Amino acid sequence: MKKEIPKADFAIIGGSGTFSIDFPEDLETEGIQLLETDLTFDTPYGESPIFKLFSIGDKEILTCRMHGWRKDIRRGMASRQLFWVLKEAGVKKIIGEGGVGSMNRLLDPRDIVIPTDFIDFTDRKDALILCEHLLVMRQPICPQIHLALLTSAQRRHTGRIFERGIYLVTEGPRFESPAEISMMSRWGADIVGQSLAPEVYLARDIGACYAGLYMVVNYAEGVVKDWSHGELRDIFYQESRKVAGILVDALISITKSQKGCGCMAFRKPTLLKE
Ligand SMILES: [Zn+2]
Repeated sequence: MKKEIPKADFAIIGGSGTFSIDFPEDLETEGIQLLETDLTFDTPYGESPIFKLFSIGDKEILTCRMHGWRKDIRRGMASRQLFWVLKEAGVKKIIGEGGVGSMNRLLDPRDIVIPTDFIDFTDRKDALILCEHLLVMRQPICPQIHLALLTSAQRRHTGRIFERGIYLVTEGPRFESPAEISMMSRWGADIVGQSLAPEVYLARDIGACYAGLYMVVNYAEGVVKDWSHGELRDIFYQESRKVAGILVDALISITKSQKGCGCMAFRKPTLLKE
């Protein structure tokens, strides 16, 4: 149902890590209240993906599934629709998640990585909305949300958690070939996936802080050994509640204030005025 875009300070962008459950309804976290479902909005880039609005305490949170991607809509456009809605809602803190492949040979499936940097190898790089600022990427990830995700992950995840790493973003939707991974692994990335960009710089474009939590679901091609679709499927179904719980715990522990994290200092006035 098309409605006015509601105000919300927070957003959680769901990925493959929470796709197999109804988020947030399936969580047992106390205080979650589902306010609205099936929300779609008009945007200058076409109709938005479907959102839900929920609250925890005095926080209101917009959320959508699978990065807002839909069949037959280019991903760069889907991201713009999504972030247009977040901008209009006044969102200040955004948490993302997704499954990733391991390029670093020390990583295994079910490890959690909370990356600190990225390489954008997509062709979605001009997917901005405001384009009113020079977006400096010296500190792409919000250190406060990052710390909140790390602390929550340490409480809920008994496996390994890596608090830094470089996320290489590919265009997708297919996975990479062994030769591509071999080439890209020399660039120094630890994990490979399809979602951290453009989300991380669209967040800065609209004046919001961003951090994401990513579970390793497979070895990248040619790394360690051939990965198994069975394990990928098991992770998809077995780990969703935990990933969702980590995101919500992190969200409970952060505030909407952007004082102190420094992210907005990297959103400079543009010198390219017409
Ligand atoms: Zn920040």
